[in-house]
Amino acid sequence: MDRHDVIVLGAGPAGLTAGLYAGRARLETLVLEMMVPGGWAAITQTIENYPGAGTVNGQELVAAMVEQAKAAGAEIASGQVDGLEQAGDGFVVRAGEKTRETRSVIVATGTEFRKLGIPGEERLAGRGVSYCATCDGPLYKGLEIAVVGGGDSALQEALYLTGFASKVYLIHRRDEFRGVELLSERIRSHEKIECLLSTTVQEVNGDDGVESLEIRDVSSGETRSLPVAGVFVFIGLEPRTGFLSGLVETDEQGFIVTDGAMRTGVRGLLAAGDCRAKLLRQVSTAVGDGATAAFAAQRYLEDGQWPE
Ligand code: NAP
Repeated sequence: MDRHDVIVLGAGPAGLTAGLYAGRARLETLVLEMMVPGGWAAITQTIENYPGAGTVNGQELVAAMVEQAKAAGAEIASGQVDGLEQAGDGFVVRAGEKTRETRSVIVATGTEFRKLGIPGEERLAGRGVSYCATCDGPLYKGLEIAVVGGGDSALQEALYLTGFASKVYLIHRRDEFRGVELLSERIRSHEKIECLLSTTVQEVNGDDGVESLEIRDVSSGETRSLPVAGVFVFIGLEPRTGFLSGLVETDEQGFIVTDGAMRTGVRGLLAAGDCRAKLLRQVSTAVGDGATAAFAAQRYLEDGQWPE
């Protein structure tokens, strides 16, 4: 069985940075890629707030991170982690058929999309219901579509989708956006975007593809049908931490609780990036987490110290 010093679960910006730092520290490092290399950053069309990079394509940014982590000596492999268990003074990581031993683990598994949980959403997923503007936006050239949500993702992706759609309805359940003011201003002044505030989506309708949404005005309680060819749902993210099955402390939403050095309450187990309980989830905060986690893991492997 393979035995590593550090196995990093997840190859987003946090995991790749942890891989870079652990590799440079000459630790036997494996980064297990669980989704696509780069996580959500890889499917983000433009990233404007990663310092020093200007306006950069997410895929290009993470491709450079992958190369840098590999050059530092980290091995990157694909594998959906099914289980993580403590074994002796380390851990056993199970991913499909493969079982690996490691002295420490950095969980950087990120998040997955929250679903609306309304009738028609699951049935029409991939046939008009989408969670990825970069992947599916080009399918809606010249068509009217809807975006649901009021956070940075919904605002940013609604703006991106105006590059394809003839009109974008931005549907948000409250009367003000959660996303940053800069994006809100661009949204409000965009001639292709119509904001439907204090509005919820009750149902997604259509036979083989999305034809309309049943929407409800929260103040008046009135419902009506909104004809659209597609709906993009950006209502937040849930941590991909289910496989930990109670091994570490999480907050009420399932995000992993760590100290400032990214250490969990379990010796040798650290967490970094979006799957961690924290205030701000950005590429810039993920890379800081990853660097800190790798450094803390290195310290632990050297001296065995762990806070009680
Ligand atoms: P978010 O900030 O948690 O916002 C989720 C939005 O969806 C909120 O407006 C929320 O409404 C709404 N919502 C939640 N559950 C809903 C439901 N069941 N039905 C209808 N609406 C619902 O999530 P996010 O926009 O995906 O962003 C996640 C993190 O990534 C944030 O920290 C964000 O700053 C970051 N991010 C940053 C950028 C950037 O910097 N450019 C881009 C993308 C994401 P309420 O407002 O009423 O709660």
